[in-house]
Amino acid sequence: MKSLLIQGGKIIDPSQGIEAIGNLLISEGKISWRGKGEETPPRTDYDILNAKGLVVCPGFIDLHCHLRQPGDEEKETIATGTAAAARGGFTTVCCMPNTNPPLDNQATIEFIKSKAASEGIVRVLPIGCVSKGRQGEELAEMGELASAGVIAFSDDGEPVPSSYLMRQALDYSLAFELPIIDHCEEKALTEGGQMNEGIISTKLGLRGIPSAAEEIMVARDLALAQLTGGRLHIAHVSTEGSVDLIRRAKEKGIRVTAEVTPHHLTLTEERVIGYDTNAKVNPPLRTKEDVKALIQGLKDNTIDIIATDHAPHTEADKLCEFDLAPFGISGFETALGSLMSLVHNGDIKLANLIAKLTHEPAKIIGNRYGSLGTLATGAPADVTIFDPNLEWVVDTKDFASKGRNTPLAGERLKGRVMATIYQGSLVYKDGSIKVKER
Ligand SMILES: [Zn+2]
Repeated sequence: MKSLLIQGGKIIDPSQGIEAIGNLLISEGKISWRGKGEETPPRTDYDILNAKGLVVCPGFIDLHCHLRQPGDEEKETIATGTAAAARGGFTTVCCMPNTNPPLDNQATIEFIKSKAASEGIVRVLPIGCVSKGRQGEELAEMGELASAGVIAFSDDGEPVPSSYLMRQALDYSLAFELPIIDHCEEKALTEGGQMNEGIISTKLGLRGIPSAAEEIMVARDLALAQLTGGRLHIAHVSTEGSVDLIRRAKEKGIRVTAEVTPHHLTLTEERVIGYDTNAKVNPPLRTKEDVKALIQGLKDNTIDIIATDHAPHTEADKLCEFDLAPFGISGFETALGSLMSLVHNGDIKLANLIAKLTHEPAKIIGNRYGSLGTLATGAPADVTIFDPNLEWVVDTKDFASKGRNTPLAGERLKGRVMATIYQGSLVYKDGSIKVKER
């Protein structure tokens, strides 16, 4: 493979505290050299990608997505999901085990790994179930799953209803040093719920999902993390109360990390007015106050990372009455564009946003798949190149994902992924990006 010099971009690598114009050389799938300003590498056998005016950063890592394979290939496959991930700037995606069958044993993990190797165009890291069949009754073979290479355990899509089972899972998380990713939902309060509970749900006549349904579970599992010393990761935090609980738990030294999605950071429950089923998501879009608290939590590191919760569905799935539509947003391809609004509004610094998409999730995954989320010399050459200021309109016909279910269709976003490099190969590039051979 010929070497590639990424020339003249603004290199931002939070893992090394770098934020400077420079050149980056990729050779044999690895980052091989970095130069400041116009400094060029000593060798000359490379192609050149002109990145002037663009940001060059580590490839994004998504700790939470749904690739739907095996079982729901009409919604997404590993091939289409990783193509969508590449368009969104993601070079590593961690897939949730709520497939059919669920990823609760070694054979299913091997299936994901082999499909990813043959059909995926970015790295796919599987997450194993907490409970057998995601039934919430007995623990899955966590040891077997850990040896098969899962990076975490989760029954995502459903909570772990039994405190006893969650306690056991957290105990095991210590043995394997792998986190339990927690979908926090007290089902007794969410049965039949369609959207955030409040004035708008009342006006629309839709059954509400109260913030308390999430916060009760966050509180319970923080208590269990304290009891066991286990590693807890709270998925898709959506409420101000959850942010407060996590902040206090961290102050007490409880081992917890947390994630927030682009949609919970940028959209509110008002999106549901008009009964747009593409704005139906679980946990639901919340209020302006919640969004403010989530942004604050992101800034003060109460919330460690941003994860998409990419949840593709077919058009037919969502073309129905609001009550009947499944939850979820297809998120890979709009993630950066929508998150950049936070930077343009002055809510968060660009380098901090990049950290939440690269170095911070890499820390949660750990080192078993090599050093991810960094442009350090010798690391896998996973690189995302984006234009922070380019405006574009979301056209779901352009999606690589089979899931066109997004409330952002037709919306103008500012900030666009221009090229994605995975292990030294250009797996996505915008038409305007030229690679000059020499
Ligand atoms: Zn979930």
